[in-house]
Amino acid sequence: MQTIPDSLCFLNGSFGPLAQAKVSVLDRGFMFGDGVYEAVPVYGKRLFRFNQHMARLDRNLAKLRIANPHTHEQWLDHCRKLIAAQAADDQLVYIEVTRGVAVRDHGMPTGITPTVFIMTNAMKPASPEQRHQGVACVSARDFRWEHGDIKCVSLLGNVMARQVAADAGAVETIMFRSGFLTEASSSNVWIVHEGALLGPPKDEHVLEGIRYELLRELCEEEGIAYNLRPIPEADVFAADEIMLTSATKEVLSVTTLDKQPVGHGALHGKPGPVYAKLYQAYQQAKAVQSI
Ligand code: PMP
Repeated sequence: MQTIPDSLCFLNGSFGPLAQAKVSVLDRGFMFGDGVYEAVPVYGKRLFRFNQHMARLDRNLAKLRIANPHTHEQWLDHCRKLIAAQAADDQLVYIEVTRGVAVRDHGMPTGITPTVFIMTNAMKPASPEQRHQGVACVSARDFRWEHGDIKCVSLLGNVMARQVAADAGAVETIMFRSGFLTEASSSNVWIVHEGALLGPPKDEHVLEGIRYELLRELCEEEGIAYNLRPIPEADVFAADEIMLTSATKEVLSVTTLDKQPVGHGALHGKPGPVYAKLYQAYQQAKAVQSI
């Protein structure tokens, strides 16, 4: 059995040790995966792009017709208390809101109180080796449901997709739906073509990562063209560079896909120049955009 850390967490209005936090077996999160979540990076004990995470939480709660149980100020207060109690300077705050506890029935019950949970853990960043060499990915058909845009806790499809990579000794599974790039099991995917950064459109098949807008801003600062458009599978396999983004990966270079080296010429199988620029710009953004 794994040891559950005894760090402080927040559950339904009270702070207490994580190992002792309990929810009802009738919680809709447990029964149906009926809830949403956020994962917010923390650098030097300060929350990075917190307002954008709050805006996405609002959007996702609205999609599930759950009223946000807290104001943004209350969320910020709760998160800051937990961050202060956690030893590490760099952390990942996890926020979950489920519809709450109700007698089991599929339809959305009304008049129940949402379950609110927050914890924070030390950030597990990419290793220096992964930064230097890039990471391996595999490809798969996107077999998840058609609401990848909702950051919900029903993550079985994503769990199964990640296991495809784990079984192949790779870091992520890059997925395609009807021949077009969607995303990876817990990251967004980007390619570089003729110096431009390309990402899939923000539609119902893709989670709008907080890094969608951040990369747009960083590309603008760095003079890199940024374009969202449907990306055929063949373009991914022929890309000059491939990158993953997520709260923990930040921006991370993919240097092999299905065991084939990514890129061309001298950069074959090596992190490329657009990655290097975006990684540097990202590090600067962390310093100025954390609260
Ligand atoms: N897609 C999926 C499926 C995810 O789970 C995540 C978050 N881990 C992302 C993309 C990236 O989102 P963000 O940049 O907000 O971490």
